[in-house]
Amino acid sequence: MTDPLLQLKPGSRIGILGGGQLGRLLALSAAELGFDCVVYEPEQDCPAGRVGARCFQAAWDDWESLAAFAQSVDVITFEFENVPAAALAFLAEKKPIRPGLRSLQLTQDRLFEKQFLHSLGLKTAPFAAVDHLDGLNHAVAQIGTPAILKVRTLGYDGKGQVRLCTLEDSAAAWFKLKGQACVLEGIVPFEREVSVIVARGGDGRLAHFDVTENVHQDGILRTSSVPARISTSVETAAVAAATQISHALDHIGVLAVEFFVLADGGLIVNEIAPRVHNSGHWTQDGCAASQFQQHIRAIAHWPLATTQRLSAQVIMTNLIGYDVDAWPQLSQKENGYLHLYGKRQVREGRKMGHITELYGFGEGP
Ligand code: AMP
Repeated sequence: MTDPLLQLKPGSRIGILGGGQLGRLLALSAAELGFDCVVYEPEQDCPAGRVGARCFQAAWDDWESLAAFAQSVDVITFEFENVPAAALAFLAEKKPIRPGLRSLQLTQDRLFEKQFLHSLGLKTAPFAAVDHLDGLNHAVAQIGTPAILKVRTLGYDGKGQVRLCTLEDSAAAWFKLKGQACVLEGIVPFEREVSVIVARGGDGRLAHFDVTENVHQDGILRTSSVPARISTSVETAAVAAATQISHALDHIGVLAVEFFVLADGGLIVNEIAPRVHNSGHWTQDGCAASQFQQHIRAIAHWPLATTQRLSAQVIMTNLIGYDVDAWPQLSQKENGYLHLYGKRQVREGRKMGHITELYGFGEGP
């Protein structure tokens, strides 16, 4: 049971670190439950700031603004896990941060995250830490090719990654990533990719959404579909792993775990996101309560809502870059629910919105 004394009352203010589309969708869900959101984001005119009650546009090392932000809210959450550690430590002294700092610290760094997963007995791609070019050559000899060199921190949507086909690619890859601390990962010959979105409440109770099947292009999520084409035993194992991770982090809020599924049904954890996730956007229209609402409920110490799916099949397609220009046609789709993020500038590879299509029993795309 959630503790009524800890529950955030409607009218309370939730601070959101990061002002992108995830922050915007969180703020909209928070508003539905009677909360006001205050956004903190270094970039001007951000998508979340335009729907929040207030927006601080300031740098992560602007201590005065961070203090004023903390002063203006009751609890702090984030849409972006790469908030610098010093800013987080400063805020944590002033207001509760949910999910906690442990979830952030472990997932900000690919190496720490993989070591943490191993400590739980979960499988990852073979990996080695790389701190210099000689180290990379050594790691390639150990892991083999093809492999992917990934920056340890601040990578997203396929950015900060380079594929190596042979040992000869090492130097070019190392210089392309500007000599940052990296991990080298062996390529996993996966059959498909899936993710689990799980919410953990303030009382430690969990609620997960249906396992989602994801298709990426150039490292960017293209589509998420449910149900995923996996066996019940793979589904059970994926949910169990996400549950284990969430409890081990003592996480409060939504967490996403991305997996590679092998041909024999084996599961390899690719990545943990300690927040709402693009592969959970289908829950907005496909479930009675979305991942965004679950996250707000969890951090407010409210009971979690049902995660039941409302239609037989749901397909979410990201609108990336100039895909968004098709909005007049997409807005006419009878079974399609269009979501646009209000980004002022279209750029190639930029997530501009998404459309979620629902199919009833017996129907299909
Ligand atoms: P990431 O940002 O690390 O999640 O990578 C984005 C996408 O690149 C993944 O969802 C996969 O489609 C692909 N990818 C990343 N790492 C690997 C790997 N070790 N083996 C195979 N594919 C990968």
